[in-house]
Amino acid sequence: LLLAYDPARRLARLNVNLGKQIVGLRLMYQLVDREPAMSDAPDAADLKVEGGQIAFSGVEFAYQDHAALAGTSFVAEAGKMTALVGASGAGKSTVFAMIERFYDPSAGEVTIDGQPVRDVTIASLRSKISYVGQDSFLFNVSIRDNIAAGKPGATQDEIEAAARLANAHEFILKQSEGYDTRAGEGGSNLSGGQRQRIAIARAMLRDAPILLLDEATSALDAESEAKIQSALEHLMEGRTTLVIAHRLSTVRHAHQIHVMDQGKVVESGTHNELYEHDGIYRRLCELQFQSRNAAAE
Ligand code: ADP
Ligand code: MG
Repeated sequence: LLLAYDPARRLARLNVNLGKQIVGLRLMYQLVDREPAMSDAPDAADLKVEGGQIAFSGVEFAYQDHAALAGTSFVAEAGKMTALVGASGAGKSTVFAMIERFYDPSAGEVTIDGQPVRDVTIASLRSKISYVGQDSFLFNVSIRDNIAAGKPGATQDEIEAAARLANAHEFILKQSEGYDTRAGEGGSNLSGGQRQRIAIARAMLRDAPILLLDEATSALDAESEAKIQSALEHLMEGRTTLVIAHRLSTVRHAHQIHVMDQGKVVESGTHNELYEHDGIYRRLCELQFQSRNAAAE
């Protein structure tokens, strides 16, 4: 189940991006995913996003009998960048899964602009959210169609504008057939950093008000990371963004940083506030600083 988890969620997200045409992928998703499929509440209304504030209050959730969230509470303010940090296994990615309603909490509530995600239609919920993870899956179709997946029917001008903002236009033009170059199986004709920039261009076109970034730069070398960081900054503009970051330097400027430990938010504040506070966040910073120095030596 652990192995099946990630690919299944990625496919689920792509299903949403592409609409209902992709029957094959839906089928794959059903095959890999053993979790019960979510369905709309009988009287579900469409989610209406004003600013896109996300709030968790006392959220509890367990995978089978393994507790992942144990009373998680925090707010991600509308239109701002909020970061979730903490050790591996602290529950950060599970928070994202709860926002997109891949699971329902066993206690507590997740709301977007005051509407419990449990009470809105799943289609409306997921249409308001863009997700970029650690390594983006691409279809073996043209780069153009991979970007257009964010907005079926997009014009070439729109696709190029998104690619430029994602720092992808230049490298795409250098490919043998430009925008018509095929991405290869799962995107194998492109580097990890190039795949990420295509995924960012796709999210740019999609233009959803809520953005979830789960370690979107952590699998990259320093040069790609810098390019992608600046692409992400364009993408974040005017959206409620939740960022899960391994490298703390990428979230220093977040409006708020929430530190998770064992399924709970245990510290919240700006970088400076948390650093002064001398708790878990400070320790995480010091650890990263030490390992960077060790690597440099
Ligand atoms: P983080 O993103 O902070 O590293 P996760 O949210 O991925 O943490 O995981 C929280 C806890 O839930 C961990 O103990 C992890 O092993 C467990 N977990 C995550 N996904 C699954 C799953 N599909 N099945 C069982 N346990 C899981
Ligand atoms: Mg994670």
